Amino acid sequence: MKKQIAVFLVLLVYIVPLTGFAQKGGFVEMKQLQGPQNPRLGFIIHGGAGVIRKGSLSPEREKEYRDKLQEAVLAGYKALQAGKSSLDAVEIAIKILEDSPLFNAGKGAVFTNDGKNELDASIMDGKTQAAGAVAGVHRVKNPITLARAIMERSEHVMMIGEGAEKFATEQKIELVDPKYFWTQPRWDALQRILKQEKEKNEKVKEAEGEKGQSEKGTPDHQSIRNSQTRDPHSEKPEGRFGTVGAVALDKDGNLAAGTSTGGMTNKKFGRVGDAPIIGAGTYANNNSCAVSATGWGEYFIRLSVARDIASLMEYRALPIQQAADLVIKQKLQNLGGDGGVIAMDKFGNIGVSFNSEGMYRAYINADGKPVVEIYND
Ligand code: ASP
Repeated sequence: MKKQIAVFLVLLVYIVPLTGFAQKGGFVEMKQLQGPQNPRLGFIIHGGAGVIRKGSLSPEREKEYRDKLQEAVLAGYKALQAGKSSLDAVEIAIKILEDSPLFNAGKGAVFTNDGKNELDASIMDGKTQAAGAVAGVHRVKNPITLARAIMERSEHVMMIGEGAEKFATEQKIELVDPKYFWTQPRWDALQRILKQEKEKNEKVKEAEGEKGQSEKGTPDHQSIRNSQTRDPHSEKPEGRFGTVGAVALDKDGNLAAGTSTGGMTNKKFGRVGDAPIIGAGTYANNNSCAVSATGWGEYFIRLSVARDIASLMEYRALPIQQAADLVIKQKLQNLGGDGGVIAMDKFGNIGVSFNSEGMYRAYINADGKPVVEIYND
């Protein structure tokens, strides 16, 4: 009889809860230990995704990235521990990354085709669904701070260019001389790309000359043209990657997400990527998750990547990692885009997904320790 009671108790305590949680699709331990009443603090950041192969960075360079990512993730997490909001943590960490020349945001922004730096950023509050975004600014030292000011101190969600800078001046947000954003590696990256573009243009002209007007549009001719327009990412990693983002969960259970970027080297005609587009590069909703993205912005916009991940959680109750993988490793992959996301649900569960070779990222693990990762392992 005693044995039967013992077996019954074991079933009740261990097996039954596991079955229930497994049906919900994973993260058994987290959901068992944490509920909406008792969320843990959560913090994760990224510093861009792309062709980052092991060995492609010198040990010194890799250490610089790792140190800066660790500094930023710890600064944001300490803010959360001190009782600050998820929005504060996101802004604090992104500012650190924006101030570093290592990342394609703020100080280290890439150059446009005409040799300028045009910065984009956005932030979203998961509690209220308030959002702020800024695009195409040249003089704002920390675009994430301006995005937050737009969210909190204006009646708008998004501002661009000169108007946004006027608002920044009114709000006493730090402006700098555009020269502040000039860095040698980013300049060199632009020159490399311009050279490649020139060579391709010459090839197209040659092909046109050889084939004559009558054969225009043949597959050969077309493929040269396609490679010209579809190849904005074909430069070395330091020229293209390094958009930054952060996602946080604070002591009150509120999620927030933010993203900041210089966009893509050689971008033209006032091009704006996904980073300042709410629902594409940034999204936060306490009912589902918070997401910050990095990658080929045109694809992230077309797929509404950040909102799509949240929708999969909201409408299909997918766990965060599955939702992120479905959007990045299937939808984005199938469409031909590349990049990745960091995401967090309301329990502090983390989702990281990318279809590129690497993604600079750092998070605080369940023991409260910082973890920095770069490669796909
Ligand atoms: N998503 C950014 C953009 O398209 C670039 C990047 O994350 O690498 O502007």
